[in-house]
This record gives sequence, structure tokens and C-alpha cells, in this order.
Amino acid sequence: MAKYEGGCACRDVRFSTDAEPMMAGHCQCRHCQRLSGAGHASFAAFPEAQVTMKGKVKFWDYKADSGNTASRGHCPNCGSMVAGKTTGMPGILALNLTSLDKPARIAPQMIFFNGEGQPWDHMDASLPKFPGMPPM
Ligand SMILES: [Zn+2]
Ligand SMILES: [Zn+2]
Repeated sequence: MAKYEGGCACRDVRFSTDAEPMMAGHCQCRHCQRLSGAGHASFAAFPEAQVTMKGKVKFWDYKADSGNTASRGHCPNCGSMVAGKTTGMPGILALNLTSLDKPARIAPQMIFFNGEGQPWDHMDASLPKFPGMPPM
């Protein structure tokens, strides 16, 4: 058993890693809203080289406001968004926390794109909030 395992809803896509997350957060950007069907997406960033993906992940690219190209990875069968990456952070793969088999094991530490959040999407008030991407 790897330290963290997970995958999409239909189980065609499975991933595992023994790495510890470099960071974890909630993102309230409009893309996360549209892609997740909820007020925000929650994810954890891992070194991509240490994540094993099984099954086909279809990546969809878009130009982020920062000018970077962001990619979101979906299962072509069930449509679950399982992963994301951006040219602004090469070598980093963000895994959706809700795709983990045990999502409660990683706690988000901050909130991105709080400025795009919906008024009904109430977030943990104790977490640091950034209107867009946090300063790197
Ligand atoms: Zn699937
Ligand atoms: Zn987002």
C-alpha cells in the first residue's frame, strides 16, 4: 500500500504516491467552480515524478490569467477531475483531495482565489485567504 491512494469515481483512473504533499489548499477560482460543480476544489500538490498514475487521464489546457498554461486532468469515462498542473509550477502535480480514498488525511492550509468565491460558499475562517494565487 502506498501512503496515499485514490482515483476517479469509476476507478478507471487510479493514482498512488509515497510522497508527502508539499502544500494543500482550497481553490475558489471560477474554473474550479465550473469543473467541480461546487463552490471550490480542494487539492494537494505533490512532486509529479513521485506520483504513479494508472489508467488514461485526459488533460484539458487553458490560459490562466497569470499567462501560464493550466491543465486539468479528467477520467474520460466518468469525467471526474482528478489532477491539475500549471506551467508556472513545473514538476508539480496537484491531486484533488476528494479523489483520495481517504480525503480527511490531508488538511487544506489556505484558500486561493477567495476573490472569485461565491457568497454561499462558506470557508474555514481560520485559514489564510488570498484574492488570487498566493505570492510564491
Ligand atoms: Zn473514471
Ligand atoms: Zn481554482
